[in-house]
Amino acid sequence: MYNVKEGVVMKQQEKHLRTLEAIASIHQAVGANLDLKAICKIIAEKIVEITGADGAAILIFRDGYAEVLAEVGFRKKFEGKRLELTMPAINYILNTGNLIFTGELEKSVAATCIPSGCGMKSLICVPIIIKDRIRGIVHLDAAREDAFDREDLELVKMLAGEIAIIMERTFLYEEIKEMSIKDPLTGVYNRRKLEEDLNHEVSRAKRYNRNFSILMIDVDWFKKYNDTHGHQKGDELLKRIVEILKSCLRASDRIYRYGGEEFVVLLPETPRERAYVAAERLRKRIEQEKFFGAEKSQPEGKVTISIGVAGFPDDGKNWEEILRKADSALYRAKEEGRNRVVLA
Ligand code: GH3
Ligand code: MG
Ligand code: MG
Repeated sequence: MYNVKEGVVMKQQEKHLRTLEAIASIHQAVGANLDLKAICKIIAEKIVEITGADGAAILIFRDGYAEVLAEVGFRKKFEGKRLELTMPAINYILNTGNLIFTGELEKSVAATCIPSGCGMKSLICVPIIIKDRIRGIVHLDAAREDAFDREDLELVKMLAGEIAIIMERTFLYEEIKEMSIKDPLTGVYNRRKLEEDLNHEVSRAKRYNRNFSILMIDVDWFKKYNDTHGHQKGDELLKRIVEILKSCLRASDRIYRYGGEEFVVLLPETPRERAYVAAERLRKRIEQEKFFGAEKSQPEGKVTISIGVAGFPDDGKNWEEILRKADSALYRAKEEGRNRVVLA
């Protein structure tokens, strides 16, 4: 005779086993160094498998929006989507810090969270918390009533904790990576990143028969500026110059701090003659700007820059050569009186 109680116990045991299996495969994914997205995909799949949810999604909060890192079971393709933080369920969790756990959605606190007519009856939403900050949400839902039990909730809570640890590590890694390629004073890329990008740009240009150019920029008489106004004012000047360069360039152009007061601009898909025109525009723009104390310290009464321009493939086969050509063009610009652009 079938024993109902025994059946329930067996079902529970099976669920425990599958939960353990899920945890093992998550740890395997972490061990295999899969990225956050790939790990979240596995977690979402396991959640659906174990809880019998119709859909599961893992959201991460970015600057001003929530990104769907992974999803399983949603009819509309949802992955990678950006969601507004004002969406009721997101807004509720962000404001209260509470989780949502209900098997009768329309009678619960979350009733207003879900658009009417979506047919969803059961819902679990658990915040992913890192150092007291809500950084994401694990969401699962089902069309039937009371689809989830306490054990499902505990499982999701535990997985949200696992995701928090992996997310924190990812954030830290991204931050360190960012720091290693950026100049802390001006926020533009550094020399290391320039070499990386130039390598990439040369092989791309070779493969697809394209061109690119670089500008080597140096501030004229900067030592005089520093000596007169102090190092701090010198730093401020460098920051302001970067802002101006940014405002004059295209989004696809990249600025790097090459040395103390030297910057390199990489202009993809730009022949050297067009780069020259862009450089001339930058030079004029800086010349017209009113910088603090320039009339006092600078020989011409204003802050100016000199620029050397070189391009691929005309000026060299590799990036070292092109950089060298741009540098000697810059040297000539200085020799010829500064505040000018010289084409290699
Ligand atoms: P030139 O027209 O020939 O380029 O003259 P210059 O004075 O600009 O050239 P020089 O290379 O002799 O001087 C560069 C100065 O830049 C020397 C140094 O004091 C200053 N400098 C380098 N890095 C920084 C920095 O990070 N902050 C500040 N404030 N000054 C810096
Ligand atoms: Mg200089
Ligand atoms: Mg210099």
